Amino acid sequence: MWLLIKHGDLFAPEHVGLTDILVVAGTIAAVGQSLSLPSGVGGEVVDAEGAPVIPGLIDAHVHIAGGGGEGGPASRTPEMKLSHMIEGGVTSVVGCLGTDGFTRTVESVLMKAKALKAQGVSAWIYTGSYQVPPPTITGEVGRDIALIEEVVGVGEIALSDHRSSVPSKHELIRIAEEARVGGMLGGKAGIVNIHLGDAADPFRPIHEAVSGSELSYRQFFPTHCNRNNYIFDDAKEYGKRGWVDLTASSYPYFPQYEIKPSIAIRELMEAGVPLEHITMTSDGNGSLPDYDESGNLIQLEMGLPSSVFREIREAVLQDGLPLDTAIAVGTKNPAEVLRLNRKGVVAPGKDADIVILSENLEITAVIAMGNLVMRGGSLIRKGAYE
Ligand SMILES: [Zn+2]
Repeated sequence: MWLLIKHGDLFAPEHVGLTDILVVAGTIAAVGQSLSLPSGVGGEVVDAEGAPVIPGLIDAHVHIAGGGGEGGPASRTPEMKLSHMIEGGVTSVVGCLGTDGFTRTVESVLMKAKALKAQGVSAWIYTGSYQVPPPTITGEVGRDIALIEEVVGVGEIALSDHRSSVPSKHELIRIAEEARVGGMLGGKAGIVNIHLGDAADPFRPIHEAVSGSELSYRQFFPTHCNRNNYIFDDAKEYGKRGWVDLTASSYPYFPQYEIKPSIAIRELMEAGVPLEHITMTSDGNGSLPDYDESGNLIQLEMGLPSSVFREIREAVLQDGLPLDTAIAVGTKNPAEVLRLNRKGVVAPGKDADIVILSENLEITAVIAMGNLVMRGGSLIRKGAYE
């Protein structure tokens, strides 16, 4: 019930400096100097010994119930393991369906989110899939978002991709308007998560939807913005108006095409994209297919949630970004984009999702909803059947 973190060098994500954090019943009760557990209450004390303490990461694009399948039935990816989340310092995920909206269901993504919550981490989902019309639980995007607690938006809807349903401008507007109203009714972001493919001028459908409606760019959350040079060049302009989400897991497999996420953060900022517009997600448990020029599958890998922190760490250690800047893309920024009001920041009243790092920026302890799930670099909690 009570947890006290002593002597952490807090990045909230803004750099606060040496401080203590008191946690009660899953919520951060106080942040300050010389805090102690009240006498008579049991509780755990973790001494951070001056090491960096950051908010738990939010990974806002994970195929939590499995994905893939583009290489046939044997290429379907498995469900995300809880331990893979915790090892990556991820305490909140947003699950999505992906390419296969035909044989997989939104219901299974929702149930996986409920399973993760029951195991002590935080989880939301997008209704829908790559396809248009999007598969839903209640029959309508807006109804799913308004009525189902875990549904914060719709997606990932594929645009500019050979696997897209190629929605018309009006179809995309209708989906986004419905998501917006569902979000208003449910008190959610009601956001449209967009899978950007390899086609030329990939942001064009979003520009057309915004210019052809009353929608704002903030309604769209395009991901894979670092998947190749021309998408990334467009993202430098797009990001001045809308959100730009970088995908972390795929770079090591496609270094010949992709912009390394850790470097992309700085390059976007240098191009004038506000830091608050930049997010990073793993695309965890998504398959990473590579196709030849004829569209034949030639390679298949799977992403992991730990890739987000890997890239944040390398942005600091290799690319010289300040830690508070780098972690914002995986903490405060996605919390604001998705309106996860209790997440992404270490401050009184927020959920106690906290990661303690070593001086070398390795994850040593993870606290999810006030509970220690990793300590001394070792997992305390794993998922069922792990
Ligand atoms: Zn995608």
